[in-house]
Amino acid sequence: MEEFKKLLIEKKQRIEQELSQFANKDPKLKNDWDSRYPRVQEGGLEEAASEVEQYSETLPVEHSLELQLQDVNAALERIEQGTYGKCENCKKEISKERLQALPEAKLCSECTNK
Ligand SMILES: [Zn+2]
Repeated sequence: MEEFKKLLIEKKQRIEQELSQFANKDPKLKNDWDSRYPRVQEGGLEEAASEVEQYSETLPVEHSLELQLQDVNAALERIEQGTYGKCENCKKEISKERLQALPEAKLCSECTNK
């Protein structure tokens, strides 16, 4: 269990670091990040347009990192609650190999492939 906790914490730090490169953590909401919106007022229109473009590119990345972070946090909570490593669907134990590859896994490999 300690092994997976360590993996999860490391993963969480990695994701948070990646997110912090282009997003601000929302201090009011736990685990919510916002992409820094381009400063449209500053600079010319051309510059603003390219910043908006950049923003629309980073948004899906931010979203997927945020989802990953949520899964990692949920897995850490399951460790605290003692329910970690059980498939949310069939309640069977998730294999150790699978958890090593994907420590935040919620489903066993059988249920994932259904
Ligand atoms: Zn299952």
